[in-house]
Amino acid sequence: MSRVNPPLPPPDPVAAERPPAGRPSAPRAKRRRATLLMLGLAAVLLAAVATFWTAQVLAGREASAGYEAALQRWETPSEEAARATELAGAIADFDEELDGARTLSEVLPEALAGTESKAALAAAVTSGAEARDALGETGAEGARLPPHAVAPESVDGLRKATAAIEAALASRERAQRNAEESLRTVTQQRETLAAAADAARSALVAGAATQAEPLTSASPEALQALADASNAASTSPLPGAAAAAAALVAALDKVRAEHDAAVAAAEQKTAERVRSAATADDPASITVVVNKQRPFNPIDWEPGDLRTPAGIPNTNGQPVRGEAATALESMYAEASAAGLPFTITSAYRSYAYQTSLFDSYVARDGLAAAETYSARAGYSEHQTGLTVDLDDGSGCTLESCFGETATGQWLRANASRFGYILRYDAGQEPIVGFIYEPWHFRYVGAAVSEDMRSRGIVNLEDYFGLPPAPTY
Ligand SMILES: [Zn+2]
Repeated sequence: MSRVNPPLPPPDPVAAERPPAGRPSAPRAKRRRATLLMLGLAAVLLAAVATFWTAQVLAGREASAGYEAALQRWETPSEEAARATELAGAIADFDEELDGARTLSEVLPEALAGTESKAALAAAVTSGAEARDALGETGAEGARLPPHAVAPESVDGLRKATAAIEAALASRERAQRNAEESLRTVTQQRETLAAAADAARSALVAGAATQAEPLTSASPEALQALADASNAASTSPLPGAAAAAAALVAALDKVRAEHDAAVAAAEQKTAERVRSAATADDPASITVVVNKQRPFNPIDWEPGDLRTPAGIPNTNGQPVRGEAATALESMYAEASAAGLPFTITSAYRSYAYQTSLFDSYVARDGLAAAETYSARAGYSEHQTGLTVDLDDGSGCTLESCFGETATGQWLRANASRFGYILRYDAGQEPIVGFIYEPWHFRYVGAAVSEDMRSRGIVNLEDYFGLPPAPTY
């Protein structure tokens, strides 16, 4: 039988290249080379990573140091910084003053302060505003507070933050270097503005005083309020100057309103007086005016309401008209309560009685002398029934010394409250036609007697606008 030989293995391509025996086989060498290659690559990679990492750390430190240095520079105080702080304060004040002056300039009444001071203030405000605009934010920039600094985490962030601080620093330092000069500008502008405002306020206060001068009929309270407002307007700081000026104008308006109202009321009274004067001719009127130019019409007129005042000593028992009697009784009660009772020595005298009285005086002293103290019949106020001669028993009966007695003084001071006037006061003879008669009181009603007193008018002729009557 035949035996088949196994086939030969195929030729080994690797083995074919394998070195001869005694040297490493070809696959192992290959593996070693690969390993070495890998190791080399790893080393290179490691070195690169290490280098990169070191660079990163160094850069981080540098950026951090730069950031810290910038912050430190920001926080280090300097002389210029102090100046800048001062400037910032001055600018803030200037802003307020400028605002106040601008408002004052707007509300300042030209009618009070005058055109000139108003224009000067407006000019100062304009020039101040221009200077302020030129200054910009100098003061605030120079005195700016540090930015809120939180160190960023990344190097890039640190660098950006540092740059921002550096930029702010540069801007702040520029501003601080300019602060001193700017401060001079601001100070000068503030002074200019204050001077213009002071002049305007002085003009305003003076103008108000001038306008208030003739307004004498205003109440003391309103005049005092005006004085206070003037004072406030002169002294208030600029930011409040406009309000103070407005208050002054309001106070002046109040004074004017009160004065005008008082004048209107006085005019009303004058009108009433004129109406009363219309009755000065009427013998029945309590305001009838009888003097040497104004006899009774009819000459022997007689009142119809005569009565004897109650409870008052009355030498001749003469009566007066009812209204005058009632008023006299009140006056007597008060005078008595004051310890100064008086006596009626003469009251109503009829035309017939006056005729005989005057004739007896002429017979005794002559016509010229008699006419200085006694009236012709038909010309005597005693015929009105509104007139009394009073005495206090001190020996000055119908004598000028009665005016010096306590009773005479009391009557002079108080009669007007009861509607009586001292008809023939001292020095009035050229108007009233009679010498000083401090005992002779005439009833005219309290409205007229008090009005005369408040106006300082002492005779009926002036009060009613009638001509003087020195002679017949
Ligand atoms: Zn008399």
